Order: sequence, then structure tokens, then C-alpha cells
Amino acid sequence: MPTARLRRKISPRVLNGHPWVFANEIDSVDPGLPDGEVVQLITYDGKFVGQGYFNSQSQIRIRLLSRDPKALIDATYFHQQLEQCWSYRKKLGYEENCRLVFGEADGLPQLIIDKFNDYFVLQTLALGIDRWKPALVEALQKIFQPRGIYERNDVPVRALEGLPLQKGFLSEPFDTRIQIQENGLRFHVDLDQGQKTGYFLDQQDNRRAIQSIVRDAEVLGAFTYTGTFEVHAAHYGARSVWGLDISASAVEMANANAALNGLSDRCRFEVANAFDVLKSWGKEGKSYDVVMLDPPAFTKSRETIQKAITGYKEINLRGMKLVRPGGFLVTSLAPI
Ligand code: SAH
Repeated sequence: MPTARLRRKISPRVLNGHPWVFANEIDSVDPGLPDGEVVQLITYDGKFVGQGYFNSQSQIRIRLLSRDPKALIDATYFHQQLEQCWSYRKKLGYEENCRLVFGEADGLPQLIIDKFNDYFVLQTLALGIDRWKPALVEALQKIFQPRGIYERNDVPVRALEGLPLQKGFLSEPFDTRIQIQENGLRFHVDLDQGQKTGYFLDQQDNRRAIQSIVRDAEVLGAFTYTGTFEVHAAHYGARSVWGLDISASAVEMANANAALNGLSDRCRFEVANAFDVLKSWGKEGKSYDVVMLDPPAFTKSRETIQKAITGYKEINLRGMKLVRPGGFLVTSLAPI
């Protein structure tokens, strides 16, 4: 197997378990090593560290897949990894919908697979994993016999790996506007046009967690996307729910989701810039029992972290000002 050698003096980060090896941490690689290939990583003095995929075009030169020198990285390896991910999710109680593969956290760097009951959405965001797409699709077919598999690789981060931005079917074509069930409610999901993979599955437990605080409450939600938190609030007994999002198509689908669950009388959405509206409503003295905020990531890079922190501070402050005494602020802070 081709080999890459670490520099002598680097931080212990990689040896301590971090799966990324940056360009400036590498001493040398075998000449002519093709991008996307699995390599074995060794320390400067030749001790095995792990196996991972290499890409000379990316600042993250190697992403480690395994710390086992004997692991054979082939189609069977990925099949087994997906099976392991699924049995772990089932243990956690997921049945229909879940993020089946969560990239590095599942030992599969830059691979995201969302399971929407019988449909799967896949993102391969590094060259090393992109090459295994056919094997991943075959494994999904074998393990789940899905009704459809869709690729949402229209993600700018792929450009950093020298990969094209693309989306489309990885199975027989199917209608990408589907419905899913979550906590006893139904939601429209557009796997092709929706944001990211179409739906924010990672918030499903948090949506359930608002149950006791929204009963009889007047609720305001901002950054609602397709209204999932807000529809939950109405379902859990809120007196009224207002939702705001800057995207007209998200608001349209949010109103459709309220209607789908027979909650339109208590749950309405409109297009608005939350920064402006929350500010002016604060000045007008409006108030709510529960304010829910779920803004998008305000930064993707180190350079803009300070600006992002200012943004998070501002939106949370504006939200807090609208909460009545004894009320609740429900806020989701995107990881920085
Ligand atoms: N809570 C949602 C996910 C929200 S994603 C869920 O669980 O499904 C973040 C949303 O913020 C996106 O829908 C995006 O359109 C919206 N957004 C971004 N900037 C905004 C702004 N300035 N005002 C209102 N909404 C905004």
C-alpha cells in the first residue's frame, strides 16, 4: 500500500485521534501517488498511524478511515461500516428517519447519508469517499432495498477537493417530493430542491423536547425552514405559532406542512428577514411565551468566526428581548 510519512515535529492531534492530516504535517508521500487513493500513514520514525484517503488538491491531505493496520479497505469494508451505522442507530431508537452516516463521527470522513424511511440521500464531500460511491450505493441497495437513492453533492465544499458540484439519481428515478413521519406528524420533504439533504434530521429529538414548554403558549419561531419546530409546537398545544424565514419556498412548504397536519388555524408562516423583524418587534414591545431560533451556520471558515459570533449574539439578544417573563428561549447554535 502507498505510504505517507508525518513530519517529525507536529502537534499530537493526529496521534491523539483526530482524523485529518493537513498538508503542513506531511513530510513525504510515495512519488506518483494518485489522488483519492487509500494510503497508510506512518510517523516520521516509521510507526503505523492509520489508513486514509489522500488528496494532493486538498489542504486536508489525508482523512483517516481506520487505525487498524490489517483493515482491508474495499467494497465489503464500506458495506460493513454502513451495517454498523444502522445497527447503532436502531439501538438509539431510530426506525424510519435518521442521519445514518455522520461523516468523521462514524469513521467515514466526509460521507453523509440521510435515511428518510425508504429513501436515501447521499453526500460524498471528499474525493477519497466519492470514488466509493458505486460501492456505497450497492451496499444501501443490499441492506435496505430502498425505494430511491439521491445524490446531493451540490455543495460548495466539494470544490476544495477538486470535485464537481452535482445532484441526481443514484437509483431508478423517483418522485423526489416525499412525505415523512416524525413524532406522529407528517412533513413534506423535497429531496431535490430542499436545503442541504432536504430536511434537518439532526433536530428531530430537539423538536420533541419542546413539548412541555409550548403548551398554551404564544410562540414565535425564526429561521423556520419548512416549519418543523413550529408545527410541533402547534401540535403540542401552543395557542398560536408565528414562523419567519427568508426563503419564500421554505415558507410555502412550512404553510403546507401546517395544513398537512390540520394545524393551519394556529400555525402560520411568512417571509421575513429575522434580523430586521425581531429588532422592530422588540422596539414595538411585542412579546411571546416561547421564542425559537435556529439560524444557519454564519461561518464556514476560521477567518469569519468573529463576525459569526457577533451575528449569533445579536440574534439571540433580539430573541431574548421578545420573551415574556417566565418564558423560554429555544436556541440552536450552529457549531463554529
Ligand atoms: N429549524 C429548521 C432548520 C433551519 S435552517 C428545521 O429544523 O428544519 C436555517 C434557515 O434559516 C433556512 O431555512 C434559511 O432560509 C433561514 N434564514 C437564513 N437567513 C435568514 C434571515 N436573515 N432571516 C430569516 N431566515 C433566514
